[in-house]
Amino acid sequence: MKSKRMTKSIRTALILLLCLAAVLQQTPVFANKYAEYESVALVDTSNGTVGYYEPINLMIGGEDIFSDAPGIIVNGRALVPISAILTELGIEYTWTQATREISFSYGGKSVVMQIDNTYATVDGVKTLLPDGVAPRVMNYLSVSGDEIARTYVPVKFISGVLNLSATWIDSTRTVAVNKKEQTLTGAYLDYTKTYPEIRLKVTGEVDATSFVISGADVGGQDKVVVDLQNTKVDISGADAYWTESGGVWTYDIYDGIFGLDKVDIEQTGTMPYTTRVTLYQDERRGHDISYDAKTGEMVIRLINTVNDVSVEKIYSTDAVVIETSENPMVQTTLDGDKFYIDVIGSYLHIGDGMKTYMTVNEGKIESVTYEQKKDSYYAPFDDITRITINLTEAVTYDDLYLESDGTAIYVFVTPNPINNFEYVKLDQSTAKMSVRLFEAASYTPTYDAGSRTLSVTLPKSVTDLGDFVYDVDDNVIESFTVEETDRVYKLSAKLAENTVYTETGTATSVAFKFTNTKIRDSEYSDRLIVIDAGHGGKDPGAIGTKAEEKDLTLKAALYLEDVLVKQGFKVYMTRSTDDYVNLYDRASIANDLGADLFVSVHINAHTGATASGIEVLYANESMSSDKGLATLMQDALIDELGAVDRGISSRPRLVVLRETTMPSVLAELGFISNPDEQAKLMTDSYLQRAAEAMAESIMNFLDK
Ligand SMILES: [Zn+2]
Repeated sequence: MKSKRMTKSIRTALILLLCLAAVLQQTPVFANKYAEYESVALVDTSNGTVGYYEPINLMIGGEDIFSDAPGIIVNGRALVPISAILTELGIEYTWTQATREISFSYGGKSVVMQIDNTYATVDGVKTLLPDGVAPRVMNYLSVSGDEIARTYVPVKFISGVLNLSATWIDSTRTVAVNKKEQTLTGAYLDYTKTYPEIRLKVTGEVDATSFVISGADVGGQDKVVVDLQNTKVDISGADAYWTESGGVWTYDIYDGIFGLDKVDIEQTGTMPYTTRVTLYQDERRGHDISYDAKTGEMVIRLINTVNDVSVEKIYSTDAVVIETSENPMVQTTLDGDKFYIDVIGSYLHIGDGMKTYMTVNEGKIESVTYEQKKDSYYAPFDDITRITINLTEAVTYDDLYLESDGTAIYVFVTPNPINNFEYVKLDQSTAKMSVRLFEAASYTPTYDAGSRTLSVTLPKSVTDLGDFVYDVDDNVIESFTVEETDRVYKLSAKLAENTVYTETGTATSVAFKFTNTKIRDSEYSDRLIVIDAGHGGKDPGAIGTKAEEKDLTLKAALYLEDVLVKQGFKVYMTRSTDDYVNLYDRASIANDLGADLFVSVHINAHTGATASGIEVLYANESMSSDKGLATLMQDALIDELGAVDRGISSRPRLVVLRETTMPSVLAELGFISNPDEQAKLMTDSYLQRAAEAMAESIMNFLDK
């Protein structure tokens, strides 16, 4: 049970205080936004005073924690809402209003804490809290005037009683709460298991977090990065396959077995210790991390994963798209109006792996379900993900068509074969299209420069295409259209601006290579920009009356990607969907890729609905390049959008700015808390213009 709201009389007093606070200082009050602000306001209910505090980041087991009230520093001590930690750890607690007590049990210990009492009771024993600091109820004030009453306790006490360690990272104002420190003493690769495994010998269980870098997309290597939290390395006793150089232990896998190239182990942090395990991949594979208590090993298992299931229109045809992390092995079964697709040797990484039902009602697809199963039919690959397509009527295999592009499986529900047509993007600037011919055919391509349309007419006797519209929209091609008449197929390709074509057909194919010459010849083709759409997934960022920050930042970031790609830049997105990516991981991704610039996109918020305008934040006065980029971006945004100019400011403790090693900025594109500005931010054209302004400043910065 959560702690109760305050009594009415105190609330009235608070509302008065809130009004005063709003006059004195504009105060952010949105959940999960704290880190972007220099101070937050809370009312200490023990004396009724409003205080301004520096908010802190809170991490548990390497994961950022979001709570409806911020962690703060009081007299040099980190205080956090106890509910945030207990909820994150899955510990149930009770609040007793009459005695103002919080009680919970953990690890066989029972704990009772009382508001304003410097003693807690641990297993019935009266225990003085560290430095004699009592739990207190602090009220964090929300934008609607509601107060969020939370019980604040020192991190030091709560981590101590839970047998966890707490480390203060001063540079980014972060409290990292972890399992007790352990040491990694060895590592080996186990090829003998059903799925290849990297087994890490540890002195005890640790928390692990991981992220994937799809480096191949921007000319690098694909990697899986696993961070063992609060873990030191002492691997000197490892087998002879491991070599050490400059603190990095490497296991070279010369034959590239299981798509792995090499594994690096390195201590990357000391406050707390962090051990980073990097898997260099020749072939993209999924991974799953677990602790094997029997052997005392952390296990990274290379198993395929099903990461998303969706229904989309591809070639104007309803298709179920199953996203996996590696070349999927598939077994299908058709049973009347049910089509089962089993992805063999895979874990479902959506939700908690439980059976999930999606209503679709598109064409013949009524619904789709997906679930994790064990099926001995497939032994030894008995872990399968089953996707079931429920159809509106019984069909035959002729009505179904499967395709895979290496990671995704496309299930088309159509009697029209479309496999004679293929379009493949080769790199940033080039792509190829081909139509398979049953027999040689003569045809004359025609090109209309005005509409940028390339057309080919083919007799129906030489191929089988059906008719479709395929909206490609990838900076080389806008779309393909096939019109079918009694006798011919008319295939039209609408080229993107600056795209030229060359004919590459053979006796058995009609084929063209397309090149966007502007992108190919761009002076920026070696420049890599990492775009970071703020927040995402479990972290909504600032919440407005009609929109959430995470959605607007993603939209703006995708527009920025589009503008930069059209200019020939290499672009990497820290997220391109509604997913949460750890703040430290966002910086690691940019550092690992050796990006030239890092641009984080955010939306602002304040208690006062009148606050408006744009500001660009940068890390450090001493990093003149950061400040230079921030200045250019601020000016470009103000010029383009005519918003209130809040200027640039230095924010050295923001994780993404602090931890990135290249010029980096964080643009706050407007205030979601201001109704007029929220309305503007919700229009595509406003975000598109913001993206153009940001891109222009990036080019100006690099041209200098
Ligand atoms: Zn933000």
